[in-house]
Amino acid sequence: MPTLGTTKLLDRAGAKRPDDAWMAEQRAHPASRFMVLVDLKPVIAPVPDRTSASIRWLTLEDVTSLALVTDDALFLGLDTAGRAHFALSITDHLARATPGAVQYFRPVVDLRTLAMQGVFSPEDQSLAGQARALGQWHENARCCGKCGSATKVKDGGWRRKCWACGTEWFPRTDPVVIMLVTDGERCILAHEHRYAPGMYSTLAGFIEHGEDIEHAVRREVGEETGIQVGRVEYHASQPWPFPHSLMIGCIAHAETTELNVDTKELADARWFSRDEVRSMLEGHHPDGLTAPGRHAIANILLRHFVGDR
Ligand SMILES: [Zn+2]
Repeated sequence: MPTLGTTKLLDRAGAKRPDDAWMAEQRAHPASRFMVLVDLKPVIAPVPDRTSASIRWLTLEDVTSLALVTDDALFLGLDTAGRAHFALSITDHLARATPGAVQYFRPVVDLRTLAMQGVFSPEDQSLAGQARALGQWHENARCCGKCGSATKVKDGGWRRKCWACGTEWFPRTDPVVIMLVTDGERCILAHEHRYAPGMYSTLAGFIEHGEDIEHAVRREVGEETGIQVGRVEYHASQPWPFPHSLMIGCIAHAETTELNVDTKELADARWFSRDEVRSMLEGHHPDGLTAPGRHAIANILLRHFVGDR
């Protein structure tokens, strides 16, 4: 996912979302555009080569011809021409049962795959990420966490309300710290059990209740590697819609150097020199070790570390 600072995004028009009449007008406007997610995977426009991809935006006419219900369409925002953009999150089961679906709902590609391939523009990646995170939240928020009754979509998808007890529910974002731990000359990278062989990345972990960013960085690094961290600097952030996280990228300055790796969490962790990291980023590490690609904020932190800004 690109960082938001690099993208030209839609105006989310937050003040207009609660206006039901306005939202209904936008859903029924012939100029409005609809992105379809099938099992949370965006429908993309077919392209002859596979070096680029873009969101396939459907018109109201397309949506109507497919008899898709737009009542609960997720409002993404307005473009500079004032056109409303929505996402329709449907199941693969519905897509298969919809006449004409093959023409409109293929191909669909998992957003993480698209990100790793780097084929989407930053704008499309960001919009599809917004839609995916919101669509996933709705999948998990159909029932009220307080009384168990059904909740209804409000504000173009940015609120749900329980019909029985009236409790309101809002889309959530889970903050994650991701940190490059350095002693000034070297940095710590880890290989997690789930990674591809030879892949090493920066440490990361969820922020817990009652923690600030600095505390979470120090706790996670301490738990996973036994290293004590002093100064923590914020570097950059990145929305990560799997399912709805915000990655908060930091530089963590180590005050100790002896590693005591938690092998339940990590398969391996060790210190890497700048030259070694550079060779991993450039794809010619002597032992074939690799680092995350440009879709990942870990890559931004690593490039910062080696001086490629
Ligand atoms: Zn309730």
